[in-house]
Amino acid sequence: MPNTPIAFAGGPLDLAENQRTPEALTAFSKDRNAIAFIMHHGQFLTQNGELALIKPMEMIGKHLYDPGPLFLGLDGDTPLFAFSLAQEDQAKNLIKGAELVPLRALALTLPPKDLSLAGRAKSLFDWHRAHKFCAMCGHQSNVASGGVTRKCPSCATDHFPRVNPVVIMLVTHGDKCLLGRSPEWPEGAFSCLAGFVSSGETPEEACIREVYEEVGVAVTNPKYQFSQPWPYPGQLMMGLFCEAKSTELTLDTKEITEAHWYDKETVRGVFDGTNEAFYCPPPFTIAHWLIQHWLDT
Ligand SMILES: [Zn+2]
Repeated sequence: MPNTPIAFAGGPLDLAENQRTPEALTAFSKDRNAIAFIMHHGQFLTQNGELALIKPMEMIGKHLYDPGPLFLGLDGDTPLFAFSLAQEDQAKNLIKGAELVPLRALALTLPPKDLSLAGRAKSLFDWHRAHKFCAMCGHQSNVASGGVTRKCPSCATDHFPRVNPVVIMLVTHGDKCLLGRSPEWPEGAFSCLAGFVSSGETPEEACIREVYEEVGVAVTNPKYQFSQPWPYPGQLMMGLFCEAKSTELTLDTKEITEAHWYDKETVRGVFDGTNEAFYCPPPFTIAHWLIQHWLDT
């Protein structure tokens, strides 16, 4: 395991799932300790490089995106909310000198707890934006429980935020690891292979299938290492190591444009900046930590 929290993980664990009645939510929003993050179109209002904070009651009367006030949970005695403002000017004018910054740009600089909360807020807002209508009957659904569920007023179906499971794996063969490049990535950027877990699969089975589909390599001994919530929009990245039975590659070029075997010395050089064989994944990604973990073992 990494000795620091993986980016987007490590947030306060009290989601207050049993304290989300309308009365409790109103009391939390009026709590003198309550604070809120402000968003607009997936960007976060920041001030001096930190998330800008505001009292939830100051947002009364503002034009908010669905689901309105989003109650993230409790950090000790502090109720945490997030709001997404419909108008960019309204967001920027809330605090003098504040600016809107995409989450990716904040991933390198925010403290782990703030980054985790921002990732949770972004994932939940993205889910609400894409799930306004009941998947059972098509009726417009309503927000419930402070933004962690939606309920259909027509057929009474409850809808819960969707988390998509993804396996991301470092394939090794002796002293070498396999890194690939997706078509949309910049030239020279290489990382672990990855793919969505399909229905009826374990992560280990998905790992074996995805590696074979993407690069034509049979792998064995898939071993789960650690995971990362990934808020683009709502994946759970499950990191694995696995061992290749051979090194010959047959690429599915729609998924992987290029793939190469790299020995530990080369990869270590890339990570410490003394080798330019490829661009390594940024440090807020689980791919970075999987490769680092392999270098350390
Ligand atoms: Zn319905």
